[in-house]
Amino acid sequence: MPTPSIVLVPCLSDNYCALLHSAASGETLAIDAPQAEPIKAALSARGWRLSDILITHHHNDHTGGCQALKDFYGCRVTGPDSEAERLPGTTRSVNQSSQLTFDGHEVRVLETPGHTLGHVSYYFPHLGAVFTGDTLFALGCGRIFEGDAATMFASLQTLAALPDDTKVYCGHEYTLSNARFALSVEPENRALADRVKDIEAQRAAGQPTLPTTIGLEKATNPFLRTESAAIRARLGLPFAPPVQVFARLRELKNKA
Ligand code: ZN
Ligand code: FE
Repeated sequence: MPTPSIVLVPCLSDNYCALLHSAASGETLAIDAPQAEPIKAALSARGWRLSDILITHHHNDHTGGCQALKDFYGCRVTGPDSEAERLPGTTRSVNQSSQLTFDGHEVRVLETPGHTLGHVSYYFPHLGAVFTGDTLFALGCGRIFEGDAATMFASLQTLAALPDDTKVYCGHEYTLSNARFALSVEPENRALADRVKDIEAQRAAGQPTLPTTIGLEKATNPFLRTESAAIRARLGLPFAPPVQVFARLRELKNKA
């Protein structure tokens, strides 16, 4: 049986919608719907009909295209249950005990609050892929708008516990600016320096820097490297608890 296709559709200035299509079942899912037009264009170019939108969180840059896509395709719209009142078009609300399937396989809802309180990520074990919205970014993490540092840190730990070869698709193309910050806090990290060269080449060629993998993020993303002696030394927090190192990194990134 052919493996389902995953396509990234650039939307707005730096958002992505990920489309998953199974030729076997005919299902097509969109993870987030920032904007209807580019998603419709990507679907019709491939002859795909949208069956579902899975929303990670209520921000408009992830949901702005939902209503128009729902009207056009009659698709289901699924979102986190604790944000249901802020997601007016949803037809199904989920949490981590919900049973979702795609192409006959289980899809797991991971509760990853912090950026927003109801934020969820969608994990497809059979595809080895996770869609992390604005929680985990390539070389970064989302801003903490509704939770606190401990909440966001725990969510990142949930994602970091997935297998190293899990492909990570996030909601934004922020990688290059995240790379500059990552280098500033851990310039001695060779894996990071090598990766930044790849990222610069990808962006110069107009390519997305996604997907990344959990293993690559653990080796290079400062927000998953709170145990790094080099980072701790640079922050002047050699013996602090990991969550405190994380909180400091997030503060520094906010000002960067
Ligand atoms: Zn957001
Ligand atoms: Fe966003």
